[in-house]
Amino acid sequence: MSSAPTGSPPPDSVTLRLTLRSLKVAHTIATPARPVAAREALPAFQGLVNATVAAAERASVAAGGAISCRKGCGACCRQLVPISATEGERLLDLVAALPAERRAVVEQRFAEARAKLDQAGLVPALLDPAARAGRSDNDLSAAYFRLGLGCPFLDEESCSIHLDRPLVCREYLVTSPAALCAGPAQEGVTPVAVPKLSMAARGLESPDPAPDAAGRWFALALLPAFAQRRPTAGPAMPTLDWIKRFVSRLGRRP
Ligand code: SF4
Repeated sequence: MSSAPTGSPPPDSVTLRLTLRSLKVAHTIATPARPVAAREALPAFQGLVNATVAAAERASVAAGGAISCRKGCGACCRQLVPISATEGERLLDLVAALPAERRAVVEQRFAEARAKLDQAGLVPALLDPAARAGRSDNDLSAAYFRLGLGCPFLDEESCSIHLDRPLVCREYLVTSPAALCAGPAQEGVTPVAVPKLSMAARGLESPDPAPDAAGRWFALALLPAFAQRRPTAGPAMPTLDWIKRFVSRLGRRP
């Protein structure tokens, strides 16, 4: 991967030109100078991921693939959704801003998910990287998927927070028949090769890229539990500095 923040076009913006494996991605991001928390810079990363996914989709189609993901197919929304603390903070804001009636529905779904994950003994490992000894992410994903838990934001097989959905949700596209995504072991599923920029959002609040940053995720279904144990206040800096930190960590991903 190579990258180059360039920028003169509109004043308060920067155009990123990234080479991610064989993909070339250009994306312009607004960069107001005021210091913000990482969660406020998240839309910048979401836009960059969207642009990367679009480039990967174009490459897949050019190679003869046909994307089978459609609105109304929520098969992948029963998978484990690992999110960073930054995304967790943003989603907590989103839930808090929901109308009371809708918020109650979503909170009830989170409570039901928590009960099932408790019953399955998965809560510690899905919440805390330190509790994952001996269990790989794949192992945890498989155990989660076996529970058949729908995402609390899933409504009639469609994402109710599409514009705000987590980065990993954006990165998941398949060219195989949709029915395979619902299969017990995801056998035969052919994902589009999308560079996983979402990994760069893990541990973003920390100025030093920790060697264990890839493991700094928790399950979206445990968002309320994350809320109870998160740190009080994170750092604030201009969006451009968050972008620089995010981009500097892209090359660390496989
Ligand atoms: S956030 Fe949306 S896209 Fe992601 S798993 Fe939940 S319903 Fe599906």
